[in-house]
Amino acid sequence: MAHANGIGSVKPNELWAYERAPMIIYWELTNACGLACRHCRATALPDAAPGELSTAEAIAVLDDILGFATDGEALPHLVMTGGDPLKRADLAELVAAANDRGIGVSLAPAVTPLLTREKIFWMKEIGIQAISLSLDASTAEYHDGIRMVPGTFDATLTALDQAAEAGLPVQVNTLVTAKTAEDLPAVAKVLSEHTLMQWSLFFLISIGRGTELTELDPGEAEKWLMWAAKVNRETEFRVKTTEAMHFRRLMTAPMLRAGKTTAAIEAGPMSRGFGIRDGNGIVFISNLGNVCPSGFLPIEVGNVKDTSLVELYRNTELMRSLRDPDQFKGRCGVCEFRQWCGGSRARAYAWTSDPLESDPLCPYQPKTEG
Ligand code: SF4
Repeated sequence: MAHANGIGSVKPNELWAYERAPMIIYWELTNACGLACRHCRATALPDAAPGELSTAEAIAVLDDILGFATDGEALPHLVMTGGDPLKRADLAELVAAANDRGIGVSLAPAVTPLLTREKIFWMKEIGIQAISLSLDASTAEYHDGIRMVPGTFDATLTALDQAAEAGLPVQVNTLVTAKTAEDLPAVAKVLSEHTLMQWSLFFLISIGRGTELTELDPGEAEKWLMWAAKVNRETEFRVKTTEAMHFRRLMTAPMLRAGKTTAAIEAGPMSRGFGIRDGNGIVFISNLGNVCPSGFLPIEVGNVKDTSLVELYRNTELMRSLRDPDQFKGRCGVCEFRQWCGGSRARAYAWTSDPLESDPLCPYQPKTEG
């Protein structure tokens, strides 16, 4: 299909075709957590659920991951998440086992009394490459209200500074909802007074505890994404989005209008992350070993206890369809940005029960629609 600016005619290449291996594996080591955040995807509980992967089963998964790189592909990066991964007594053993296999590890700890200064320096020591921390508001009152535990706001900023002291890069994650968006400039100001590598804006999908909160409407989301693009240009830390893939359209459309070619854009730093979305470059393993395209797209394609993760990622029908934008429906299916963006498959599923439908958060009318 021909497209006005030629993007849609570009075939996927190694930049954004993740047929053979994901770039990131999100691994929910446990759903145990001392917090009970209103929007928690994992519906975390104080104690580990029966049936969580044992240490031996987890190490078998690490061996399995090596199968992604048998033909010279880069090994995926592992993000150990939860729940609170610090609740796993074997965390150091698992990180060491991953590093021994050449698999890089980042950690997404919860901000609870377990996250001490000593623990942050320990993380660096055991070989964790980066961590993520959540900061959902610019004030303690608002943030602690979402996280349901007083003191979490102050503890998060303390952990951010301690990570900088330990030389541990941090991604700060901020939830974006209809109610919280107006606070984003104030959050950006708070962050500008600290050291971080990256700020990730997670555009709420109404699943899990998140159903108590409301998503932005598409017009408002567009406005805040444009604001985020401006912040990205003006601050020292990089700004990215989670489950708002059309940020890539907003970032690249001005370049295309200015006459920059698709080839030039693809060769530039902007193309980092192009195409990555639920099931394409991303895969998720639950605490019980269930495998889904992402943590926000809860359709299980199998379990690592009985099937290879490599097999589940590469060959299950759902995963294959999520990697083929030509199978997408509605606007996303004909959009000239679909290879670079492709929309949130998780939000499409949450709203329509069909993960191949259009992303309802994106208001864009493709040039070829109809
Ligand atoms: S219509 Fe779909 S593919 Fe196109 S920019 Fe919007 S979300 Fe992305």
